[in-house]
Amino acid sequence: MRKILLFLFFVSVGYSSWGQRGCATDEVNQLNKSTEQILLEQQVFEEWLLEKKARLVNQNALQELSETTVYKIPVVVHIIHNGEPVGEGLNISEEQVLSQIQVLNKDFRHLNPDSINTPDIFKPFMADIGFEFVLAKRDPDGLPTRGITRTNGYKIEWSFRTELEKLKSLINWSADDYLNIWVAPAMGDDLGFASLPSSNTIQDLNNYAENNPLLDGVVVHTPAFGSSEFYPFGNYKQYFDLGRTATHEIGHFFGLYHIWGSSRSCSVDDFVVDTPKTGYYYLACPPAGALYNSCTAEPSMFMNYMDYVYDGCMNLFTLGQKERMVTVINNSPRRASLLTSPALDQPPILDATISAIVNPESGTCVNQIYPAITLRNSGTILLTEVELRISTNGLENSRQFYSLSLSADQDTMLLLPEFSLTQFGNIAFTAEILSTNGQQDYFPDNNSLSKDVFFSEIVSAIDENFDSWPDSWAVRTTAPLSNWNFVQAPQEDLENKAATLSYYNQYQGPNDLLVLPLLDISSYSYPYLVFDHAYGYRDELDDILALMVSFDCGNTFQDTLFLESGRELATTQIPVRFTPSGPVDWQTSIIDLSNYTSQPIQLAFVGKSGGGNNIYLDNIHLVDKGYADVRIKGLLNESGVFSSDINSVGLVIENSGTTTLNNLEIELLEDGKHIGSQSWGNLNLLPEGRSVVYLDNNLSSGVHNLQFKLLIDDLNSENNRLESKVNFLASKNEIPYRINFDSGLSKQNWAASTPFDSNTWQIWQETNNFIYYPAQSVGNIGLHDWLVLPMFDFSNTSLASLQYKIAYTANELKNEALRIWLSTNKGESFDYLLKSSSGEELEIQTVGIDWFPKTADDWTTQFIDLSGFAGEENILIAFESIDGDGGNIYLDDIELFISDEPMNIILEVNQMAIYPNPVSNNGTHISFRLVEKQDLQVRVLDANGNLISQQQFLNVLNQTYPLDLNNLAKGLYLIQVVGPSFSGVARIVINE
Ligand SMILES: [Zn+2]
Repeated sequence: MRKILLFLFFVSVGYSSWGQRGCATDEVNQLNKSTEQILLEQQVFEEWLLEKKARLVNQNALQELSETTVYKIPVVVHIIHNGEPVGEGLNISEEQVLSQIQVLNKDFRHLNPDSINTPDIFKPFMADIGFEFVLAKRDPDGLPTRGITRTNGYKIEWSFRTELEKLKSLINWSADDYLNIWVAPAMGDDLGFASLPSSNTIQDLNNYAENNPLLDGVVVHTPAFGSSEFYPFGNYKQYFDLGRTATHEIGHFFGLYHIWGSSRSCSVDDFVVDTPKTGYYYLACPPAGALYNSCTAEPSMFMNYMDYVYDGCMNLFTLGQKERMVTVINNSPRRASLLTSPALDQPPILDATISAIVNPESGTCVNQIYPAITLRNSGTILLTEVELRISTNGLENSRQFYSLSLSADQDTMLLLPEFSLTQFGNIAFTAEILSTNGQQDYFPDNNSLSKDVFFSEIVSAIDENFDSWPDSWAVRTTAPLSNWNFVQAPQEDLENKAATLSYYNQYQGPNDLLVLPLLDISSYSYPYLVFDHAYGYRDELDDILALMVSFDCGNTFQDTLFLESGRELATTQIPVRFTPSGPVDWQTSIIDLSNYTSQPIQLAFVGKSGGGNNIYLDNIHLVDKGYADVRIKGLLNESGVFSSDINSVGLVIENSGTTTLNNLEIELLEDGKHIGSQSWGNLNLLPEGRSVVYLDNNLSSGVHNLQFKLLIDDLNSENNRLESKVNFLASKNEIPYRINFDSGLSKQNWAASTPFDSNTWQIWQETNNFIYYPAQSVGNIGLHDWLVLPMFDFSNTSLASLQYKIAYTANELKNEALRIWLSTNKGESFDYLLKSSSGEELEIQTVGIDWFPKTADDWTTQFIDLSGFAGEENILIAFESIDGDGGNIYLDDIELFISDEPMNIILEVNQMAIYPNPVSNNGTHISFRLVEKQDLQVRVLDANGNLISQQQFLNVLNQTYPLDLNNLAKGLYLIQVVGPSFSGVARIVINE
């Protein structure tokens, strides 16, 4: 209701005498001055202006008037309203303001479309003034602004003649830096007022000029501000709704007089040569060519912005007016300063951010908390002061001001008041910025940061097997996510769990700390910290594990008790994501803590990623005094497959105690029954050291379930036993040899073994059988399963090679590895790594996980030359699969050749082939795929059937031989092959 009343009031009273333009500029500027004073003042100003104009011309700074320099004028629009909401009544909308700025930028750049209405006789004088009006971006305090202020003047009309000082006192920004435009409702017919560019700082004008620069600027009647053309929704005064009042007043502001001069007389000019002399103003919209106020016989330029006609009837400034305005903007002290105003600079931002809580950190003890934060100046202006509040679990601990001098984009660390707590466990620590430079900063969202901090109790014992995650231990990292995890990691048993640093394929990272509780070991006479670790070294990427000690409640860690990386830290080498496969992959380390009994300490395991592989940590114990502990880590030959005539089986043992190990006794059991024992002396095995002991073997060929048992009373009896299936192979095979799994696995006398009896190699029953490792079916990550080929005798060949077909699909980070090993010592150890491939190297298909090979294209053929082992009598070859819980590994057609040539073509059974063909006379290759081994005669005949040469191939089964052609001439030849159960003829063409 109030709004409507106001609106009616506005229209009926405010617009009661609409229809005529009134400009208070002359009246106000001439107030209380005699005619002589006014003339004298004008004269002085004009002389000053002439002199400046001349100087500009001399300095060549005032360009040809036809050329234009663009001057950007910073503007602030002060909307003086009467309490209306924004956009209503006197509190005009931002859009209406913008429509006015649009008008100014058209009129002062001669872009106004209605300039086509300028009479032809005046068109040569039309001018682009070059002034552009921009709403201020920074306020006088340097803070961001939209260039519009809104002030309640508590009045519905203002006298533009007697109340200007009161009006402008409501709000004004420095006239040196801003063109102030007050938009306020005027009393009477006045539509505007402007201060002239005279100034008391202009010599000789100090007696006349307006001496209060705070009142400098332009005032426009609210309904005459803005343009109904660009913003039709405002409340405009009829005929004065196109924004020309502001154009007119800003003309005054830059030194223009009314076009008829300051009085109703032809003797007074506007001091502009190209505006014809006019005796008085024109109103409304005079007819074209009107000259009734002209001082000459020529038409009047009533359409000039500096006359009194309706908005729609005015359309030009002249070149002469431009000359005055450009001189003024360059010289008037009150105006030239606008050109160096900071008002249009990009606005500053006052914004402080708490970017990090440096301290406290988890693991710190409660009685010494030294909070520290990183503060960032995320604004653009200097930070001089912040007020910070620290709280724990929502309760204030401290509140304090900090003086600083922090430039934009800089960080600083602030040390906050020390405090202590009485509670343990997880506590939310919060730091907040309460004020910035004494103000609320612009972006409060980043003013607060919280961190959950774990505060530990004091303990005097540590026995951590990681059966569950130790909640009293704290994880610290500066990485976005901790790399400490808790996973299944086979050790003595398959289900064993351990702490792990997941560094496989990780980026090189910051320190990852696992902080133990505060430790009081003053009652220990000789304390040791014992821990197991496992690490699979990969690709020369050095990950680090360290153990450090803190003497200041976990605030800093000073002494390094253990530090190993890369090859030194490695307990195995592995090409894929590492998970321990069993005891053999773990190593015990023993740290002497006897120097640290005098004060409470905190220990931290510290990891640092080199992007290599995972590190595992388990069985962390604090023990007092020296102790013995011996561990069986596994068989030296992890496959458990040996020649039946091997003399001894190697067993890896580790001294995990603190004293040197000299004597050892091991009992051997089969299916739980004692079958013997054996002793060793003078071992001289130092703590943390490993050794291999060899057990004499009298076992028959075939598979045995053996148990190895340490006969020792030591710290940990769990690791004194090993159960393993072993397989002693009696028969030996000559090569060439082929297995295609079509008759299964057991018939071929193959062996398979694994420490945990996990999923092992199996036969896939298809039309053509093949063997596979079922990695995708069971999540036995990390386990190694061995597929050992029958034993071979290479003593009767000078060439040997291995060829097999493989199919596999890689599955993101879940990659398998396949390693092929060779033993020449009856399986005592597999000393030769023939090939190691993993993940994408193995991959031939990128398809779903349920994939299995269906066509010949799904397989790739691999070839390994084994000629270096020719002559050896006891060859064992093993395929070791490493389970990454990814895709199955499929193998087929594993063949041993007595040549060093791969078979590059696929042959049906009982076929031969010559490739390439046609051939050069240097020779080619001949491949066979026979049902059974036999010796073959290979003859070369010419086209007439004459024998040219012959070769003999012994023990041919399924391999490729070089075919020597002895520089035969070009032409057609026949290759005739004859054997006991195979014969064949092929044509070849020699083309060079
Ligand atoms: Zn005027």
